[in-house]
Amino acid sequence: MPYLVRDRLFFGDITAAAEVLKNGSPEITHVLSLLSSASISFFSDWRSEISIPTEEIRKVFAGADGSPRKSLAPGKLVYSLERAGPELKLVRMAVPLRDTEDENLLDHLDVCLDFIDQGRKEGGVLVHCFAGVSRSAAVIIAYLMRTEHKSMEDALESLREICESVSPNDGFLDQLSLFEEMGFKVDTENPIYKRFRLKVLGHSYKQGEKIDSSIFGADPGLPLESNSSEEVRKGNQHTTAYRCKKCRRIVVSQENVVSHVPGENETFFDWQKRKSGNWSNRFQEQECSSLFVEPLKWMTSVEDGALEGKLSCIKCDARLGYFNWSGIQCSCGSWITPAFQIHKSKVDISMV
Ligand SMILES: [Zn+2]
Ligand SMILES: [Zn+2]
Repeated sequence: MPYLVRDRLFFGDITAAAEVLKNGSPEITHVLSLLSSASISFFSDWRSEISIPTEEIRKVFAGADGSPRKSLAPGKLVYSLERAGPELKLVRMAVPLRDTEDENLLDHLDVCLDFIDQGRKEGGVLVHCFAGVSRSAAVIIAYLMRTEHKSMEDALESLREICESVSPNDGFLDQLSLFEEMGFKVDTENPIYKRFRLKVLGHSYKQGEKIDSSIFGADPGLPLESNSSEEVRKGNQHTTAYRCKKCRRIVVSQENVVSHVPGENETFFDWQKRKSGNWSNRFQEQECSSLFVEPLKWMTSVEDGALEGKLSCIKCDARLGYFNWSGIQCSCGSWITPAFQIHKSKVDISMV
């Protein structure tokens, strides 16, 4: 039986979901499936006697038009939406998600939480994964955080009162605390998100995946892409930019800088330690001889897949810095991993 978490919001494991999808439910109209595969055949692979009729509504892939710039590799399935169950009366959203610490939960949260909102408006929604312990719990916790402005701890506690066994894996808990720090949203412009994105990229590199430059940051030296609202600078607000000293081309804007706490010798993405830190970009400007930035589209040398290499100005070929997927130590002592480093001595600051 699914657990009732809030009015019209249910939580359960695959057994509860299979029951609802097979026989329908008077209270549940929407099902959010968080399983390693989005395919409905997951259920018949699990128990061969279970066959659930479905009809596809749509599938959404990362990198498609209109999807915000996130860390998911282009072409990866973000979710599938279908009608399912008796008389195809249920709406099922399936989000492929593994229960591992390195799984990217954060980039799936928006679609999951919006689907839960919609499901509760139109009827009732069941959120389930395989065991009803980690994945579905993480998503429900995020939902309680967003709707009730609860801290992660409080939301977890609140869910444990309903179902004692919930226990999201540590990687999910780390990402939920980033979600909390960003004000209960996934803000792709937030430095917290940018650090997360770099970590995900570094992880894909380690796994031997091809690094796709289409998810790199836009080249700040090029005119803004008019179809990409995310890149449009807000109003006439001035932004700090860094120009190549030799040819004056803009190579980095302040938004591309991924800050670190000078001298704190921690692994870049040790999220637990980072919480106490002060992440103002200004610190970095004062004390460090390098800027560390997100990978940008002009950094063509990165695409070749080498572990490390030079970063040269795309216009005049002057050497601006270095990248290294296993990290570079900043002059302040901090290790940055992965690192895309621009020497401050090679660039000038200007306002644009
Ligand atoms: Zn530094
Ligand atoms: Zn140059």
